Amino acid sequence: MRLIENWFSERYSENLQLSFRVMDQLLSVKTDFQRIDVFETYDFGKLLSIDGTVQLTEKDEFVYHEMITRVPYFMASRKPRSALIIGGGDGGAAREFLKLGLERITNVEIDSQVVEVSRKFFPSLASSFSDSRVTLIIGDGAEFLKENRDKFDIIIVDSTDPVGPAEVLFHKEFYNSVKKALSKDGIIVTQSGSPFYQPNGLKLAYNGMKEVFRNVSVYTAFIPTYPSGFWSFTMGSDSPLSARGDEVDPGKYFNARVLEGAFSLPQFVYELISG
Ligand code: SAM
Repeated sequence: MRLIENWFSERYSENLQLSFRVMDQLLSVKTDFQRIDVFETYDFGKLLSIDGTVQLTEKDEFVYHEMITRVPYFMASRKPRSALIIGGGDGGAAREFLKLGLERITNVEIDSQVVEVSRKFFPSLASSFSDSRVTLIIGDGAEFLKENRDKFDIIIVDSTDPVGPAEVLFHKEFYNSVKKALSKDGIIVTQSGSPFYQPNGLKLAYNGMKEVFRNVSVYTAFIPTYPSGFWSFTMGSDSPLSARGDEVDPGKYFNARVLEGAFSLPQFVYELISG
């Protein structure tokens, strides 16, 4: 990734990009799977990019990581004790599951270098991998599930967008193997992109899950550094999807009202998934 006059830009299209002025480029490495860059930005702290797309920044990562973990946690009809994270090599999702008191967390990340980079530049996320409740496996999440015999109360797909190594994670076949690995009343959540800029990613996840799970819902969150700042997550389960009613400990973004409101979809998003 070449910096142009100290700006890192994520290109959304030929005509559109989001730019961060950066103090320094801390790393640029090409792995077997992707290109990883780390920048020190002026306004968002350190930024991790994969193949030119923002994965996280120190300033707003809390929104994504709270929303991909706490929403399924509080929607599960029984208090969850175990979780499988597919992707998530930065450690942020594992950190949040630890905060929620989960007893067993398995994290399957395809690219060991994402973990190494995070250990070096984002220790407040990657330190979760040193906790004895977390098992880190380096491998493809879809392949892992083919061999897996364990059951998990929550499975989250904290992956890159549905191109390259993450493409398999958005298909019906994958959701079928997720279903086998879920315990009774288990829940899957996948990040499903920006409904505004990436409607096909959301449709892919929603339609794929619909073929496999009895109940599928979409929720959204405000994530300033992701395309359009408006992000979707798609959730599936064979059990009814409604909040368990436990008292909700607020995070920095998440609270009881957010849990309720996140499922209220703007009409264009509703039409996207109903069409
Ligand atoms: N928060 C992020 C976002 O939505 O932009 C996702 C962050 S996390 C760093 C994404 C991770 O998914 C990457 O480290 C990537 O290597 C991993 N990944 C992609 N495809 C995968 C696969 N098939 N199995 C396991 N991990 C995968």
